[in-house]
Amino acid sequence: MKNRPAASVLLFFASLSCFALSAQERTPIIDMHMHAHHIPLKLAPGSPPPCRPSPCQPEGAATGTPEESFEKTIDMMQRYNIVLGFLSSANLEIVQEWVAAAPGRFIASPFIEKPGELSPEMIRQEYIAGRLGGMGEIGSQLYGVAPNDPALAPYFELAAEFDVPVLIHTAGLGPPLPGFRTAAGNPLLLEEVLARHPNLRVYLENSGYPFLDEMIAMMYHYPNLYGDLSTMSWVIPRPAFHQYVEALVRAGLGKRLMFGSDQMRWPEKIGEAIEAIEEADYLSEEQTRDILYNNAARFLRLEGAPE
Ligand SMILES: [Zn+2]
Repeated sequence: MKNRPAASVLLFFASLSCFALSAQERTPIIDMHMHAHHIPLKLAPGSPPPCRPSPCQPEGAATGTPEESFEKTIDMMQRYNIVLGFLSSANLEIVQEWVAAAPGRFIASPFIEKPGELSPEMIRQEYIAGRLGGMGEIGSQLYGVAPNDPALAPYFELAAEFDVPVLIHTAGLGPPLPGFRTAAGNPLLLEEVLARHPNLRVYLENSGYPFLDEMIAMMYHYPNLYGDLSTMSWVIPRPAFHQYVEALVRAGLGKRLMFGSDQMRWPEKIGEAIEAIEEADYLSEEQTRDILYNNAARFLRLEGAPE
């Protein structure tokens, strides 16, 4: 009995130094798709993560509180050397708590669910105060509102005015909400927005999966359009993920894809998402680094970012 606490403390330090070593050995990563405990569904703690197509058996258990999500997310960031995360929630208080608890580690951003719920005027004040640095995830597709809907126009205007990056959920994957519309996720529906704001930096969740042809066409024509590789690395069958990423890279778009975990309330998915990219044998070392760090650094215009 006497030795037990000492042994567990030793074990604790052993595991800490193990993390430190692996984080040190790892090159830095930027996670362009994180949420502060946010998921647009009511879920009991321990709920499994989403998976497609049904029937399928996902592995994982949802966190119970924002504190648990934060601790586990930070743990994964340390383990994988994630130096920066684009972090959103519809609850901006939680976002600001995370930013305060881990200064310099997050770009704070509002999650837009139904247009109007977070008012553009309030967001404007937050930009002026320097408390927010991004727009989105714009998740209006979850309620059937497409990117070209006039109700979203004020958000794009605002992002263009303050020159902040925009993440939008425009894809054929989404949570089982009654208002979700697959057709509202076609990347072509973003065209008028991009034509109107040619300098706006926009990136699409899951690079518009599975609208491959539409995504390629849009990325060819609009050089400020990027795509993230996020939920698709752990929600759909892995071969389908690789097929999509390889097709985008073969189309010459490897400099415009960015890693994201979309961890929501399953922080352990961060590691799974990184490993999905690292295991891709069709990516050169340089292409892997581009996806995990360089492309996001350029997109975000970080100091010292590659051209
Ligand atoms: Zn998301």
